[in-house]
Amino acid sequence: MTVLASGSKGNSTVIASAETRVLVDAGLSCRELLKRMAMAKEDPSALDAILITHEHTDHVAGLSVLARRLRIPVYFTEPTHRAWVRQMTPRTTMTYAQWMEHVQKEKEARAALSELETGAVGVLTDLEAAAAEDDLDEAAPEAATRRDPASLPAVEYFQPGTNFSIGDLMITPFTTPHDAADPCGFVFESATEAIRMAIATDLGSMPPNVKRALERIDVLLLESNHDLEMLKDGPYPWAVKQRVLSRVGHLSNHATAEFLARDYDGNATYIVLGHLSETNNVPELALLSAEEAIRERGRLLGNRVLLAQQNAPIAPICL
Ligand SMILES: [Zn+2]
Ligand SMILES: [Zn+2]
Repeated sequence: MTVLASGSKGNSTVIASAETRVLVDAGLSCRELLKRMAMAKEDPSALDAILITHEHTDHVAGLSVLARRLRIPVYFTEPTHRAWVRQMTPRTTMTYAQWMEHVQKEKEARAALSELETGAVGVLTDLEAAAAEDDLDEAAPEAATRRDPASLPAVEYFQPGTNFSIGDLMITPFTTPHDAADPCGFVFESATEAIRMAIATDLGSMPPNVKRALERIDVLLLESNHDLEMLKDGPYPWAVKQRVLSRVGHLSNHATAEFLARDYDGNATYIVLGHLSETNNVPELALLSAEEAIRERGRLLGNRVLLAQQNAPIAPICL
């Protein structure tokens, strides 16, 4: 697991097994994501797919540009995909059915085009072409809008609670309580290595299905969003405070500690605290709170607690 970024300004994590590499969320610009991957020595051209937890901007900001540049499929739930398309094409008068038809036509046109191409056209050329396209996006956003900002190389749907595989990675998406169309977290299991990793952020609470999903996890990226007192006394408008605090908002240090002390099985080699608020939390506070909760269980030794960062990737966690 390599957490490239975590927090309300952008989230993205690489999960890799021996044979498969996926990116979970793309919440920074494509350029920034590529920069972070270079910093973490992750090869973007080795990515097999992008998985999306939910459509909030801090999880999808660079999605379309990155997916087009790398020419890899994007996995969503159908409601998340619909919400994302609506978000990307706010002025469109197309219905979803019309849009799907449009996507199909584009796909056919691309297929026809690639049949004309000879085998001599390399990946680099494609990447360069896509890069030029992105520069165009930035120089002339209106042209990009005309070209359909929600177009992706391929879209795959999954359903929360139903396993699916990408290469040798088995993925179990689970529903999370959060104010998005169909938010979810993921458990990743490598068939050959018997290692399980999980991503559970953007959770207003810890319902039984999430607790169950987080059993027997070796590397756990877990939300520890805010300190309750800092949030209550902080600068956010009342409505935003209510949203964050609600059962479909974000998990506080306290709620995370409560889970770790009461319900967590103590199995993880690493727990990575993520999605920390820069306004309403202090990393040391989140760390202390989680470590104390685990210490209560007398299991601190096997559970190294790390902090994910908003502004830089953390060192890859390898088991
Ligand atoms: Zn969110
Ligand atoms: Zn988020």
